[in-house]
Amino acid sequence: HSLHEHATPESVKKVIASGDTHAHVPDYIPFEKYVAGGGYKLLKECLDGTRTVDSIIATLEDSGIRGLGGAGFPTGRKWKFVRAEPGPRLMAINGDEGEPGTFKDRHYLETDPNRFLEGMLIGAWAVEATDVYIYLRDEYPQCREILHTEIAKLEAAGLSIHTKIHMRRGAGAYICGEESAMLESIEGKRGLPRHKPPFPSVVGLFGRPTLINNIETVYWVRELVEKGGAWFASHGANGRKGLRTFSVSGRVKKPGVKLCPAGITLKELVDQYCGGMLDGHTLKAYLPGGPSGGILPASMADIPLDFGTLEQHGSFIGSAAVVVLSDKDSMRDVTVNLLKFFEDESCGQCTPCRVGTEKAVHLITQPQWDEALLQELMKVMGDASICGLGQAAMNPIKLVLKHFRDDFKSLAPAE
Ligand code: SF4
Repeated sequence: HSLHEHATPESVKKVIASGDTHAHVPDYIPFEKYVAGGGYKLLKECLDGTRTVDSIIATLEDSGIRGLGGAGFPTGRKWKFVRAEPGPRLMAINGDEGEPGTFKDRHYLETDPNRFLEGMLIGAWAVEATDVYIYLRDEYPQCREILHTEIAKLEAAGLSIHTKIHMRRGAGAYICGEESAMLESIEGKRGLPRHKPPFPSVVGLFGRPTLINNIETVYWVRELVEKGGAWFASHGANGRKGLRTFSVSGRVKKPGVKLCPAGITLKELVDQYCGGMLDGHTLKAYLPGGPSGGILPASMADIPLDFGTLEQHGSFIGSAAVVVLSDKDSMRDVTVNLLKFFEDESCGQCTPCRVGTEKAVHLITQPQWDEALLQELMKVMGDASICGLGQAAMNPIKLVLKHFRDDFKSLAPAE
């Protein structure tokens, strides 16, 4: 199957072929320096009883922080739910970061990994998790090396006495970023999404109540507590609250990881944080949340990029992976590219998605698009797929049919 090939870029294959598998580890803040800057003080205060779980959770709730892996569930509430379940409880960190165009978790791991680890250990303390599993995508060997090194140091310093840390490597499947497929994968099985309910907070890893958090979500915990929930909530633009880390790629002068006020618009993001569009390119469209968030037109570059706003337009922000497209990009090619990705990455467990993604690629690579049939397929996949992959796979088609009709003059008329 092409899954593995798909997930292994040429550069990695070359490294493997050359036998030099030693990852290039970038400069980052190591344990000693992190501690010198006040790091792990908060964790120690939690462990010695100076801080209460309720006060930490209250801070998370005041800040309004939501899961930054893509689903956007309020973090404080999730900690509370898991804590209320009977023990033993577990914790799993989703570091799969598989949504194309997303690279913020990698950035945080490569710069300040102990800040993430401290947040994770505070989460484990809050829900009294006996074990924590960090699920890291295998395409980040440098991050794995960093984590191994830094975890050994914090363990030697006695900072993880309340829980046991385990590292797990992904194997290149996009679907393993879906939280229940990730749990299956950690358990050593094929990464097939589970039916929900029950939710992982009730029946998660090895059947135990499990707190699942994204890397970036727990990365913020220390700063939120030190500066206060109100500090985080005081940021924001266009009526939204908090900070968001955007991974920006595409036709902009300065792509990369951008920390911005939540609710910033695409236009503000491109002009104020990315140096504007590349010379000779005019904004035509953008992906606000990786492939699953679909494609929006330039005319919608002034809506707040945040949870709850984009949904009104049939899209969503997800992991805040923004891909900027210009007049030099063919919307047809982009759509075919995205659907082929979903076809490759469908886990094959359910028929609407397994057959539907393949059928969709077939339909949109014809000279004429059969819109009526595409609409029917969209409905079946949205209604009957088990997980978000199948449910969201048709978003790009839905949105290009809505906003880019001029690009598809050869559309067959809808019945
Ligand atoms: Fe697998 Fe697709 Fe079904 Fe999700 S929707 S369970 S990815 S076949």
